Amino acid sequence: MIKKKAVTFKPYERTEYAYDKLRVCRKCGGYTVLSEEICPFCGKRTLTTVQSFAKRELKRSMQSELLFSALLTLLAVFFADTMPWIGIAAAVGIVLTAMLAFAQYRVFEPQLRIRTDRLFARDKDRIRHGLIQDIRAAEGILEANPARAYEMLREVNTLLRNDPIRRLQAELLQTFVLRRDMDLLLEPLIMDGFSPHLAGYIGEVAKLNRELIKESSIRYCLQYEPQIRNMSKGEDILAAVAGAAVRMKRYIQLYPEFIRRYTHKLPEDRLERLREVLSQHPGEFGPLKLEADEVYWVRFGKRNARDASQQGSSS
Ligand SMILES: [Zn+2]
Repeated sequence: MIKKKAVTFKPYERTEYAYDKLRVCRKCGGYTVLSEEICPFCGKRTLTTVQSFAKRELKRSMQSELLFSALLTLLAVFFADTMPWIGIAAAVGIVLTAMLAFAQYRVFEPQLRIRTDRLFARDKDRIRHGLIQDIRAAEGILEANPARAYEMLREVNTLLRNDPIRRLQAELLQTFVLRRDMDLLLEPLIMDGFSPHLAGYIGEVAKLNRELIKESSIRYCLQYEPQIRNMSKGEDILAAVAGAAVRMKRYIQLYPEFIRRYTHKLPEDRLERLREVLSQHPGEFGPLKLEADEVYWVRFGKRNARDASQQGSSS
């Protein structure tokens, strides 16, 4: 077994949109999620957010429209042959240019959204290339600084979500000593295929912070239950997840059979929590309730009887 390393990593910075983390270089047009200032491609301090990049492009195109309008006005004035026509051409030109500027001002925000969307569509391959470079950079320090490599992969995973990158993160996480105070992420790591590292990680998270166990993690365990059971501590992982699931009535309603299969391995507090929820819904969850009562009786009925007899003998 690999010796786990004690590490610390920065809390994950959450943003409103995934692309808020993306930076684009004003100089070479490269993309990255790993740097705020220095471009990893050209080395210049020319990185900016995609939003401000799009804003710059939009402002430029609006300025060209205004210039074109002013130029048309000048041409009209130039070709007008009498003073009154010069006046009319100039006045109309100025009014139309002002109207154009006002219209641009009014549509700026919606235009910016369209421009940003177009930028993403246009630079799709470039963004992908940038993110792949980011992954390579993380892989480059995998041995020397695994915690930083994990942080880097976590950032890339915000935008690029696929099984290999999730697998790599799960694998790294399994080499760390995890603690409750760490900002652990689980949902973004749930992958399509089976990974024993991810299963192991889910089991640890279920014990450290059961709030993080949500539907996707429970479904993952259900989907790969046979594979997880075949792992050395597979049943413990599944029991930890079932124990985390009983905190919500909704999960008990959705996965009663899954919880029933691991009721016998639930620790005391989880078993009590399960029985408490079940007792609030008499007539529901028949087989699960039977199992919970049975396990309780086998485990504590005997103990209660033993305690009672010990009390009896000591008195
Ligand atoms: Zn650059």
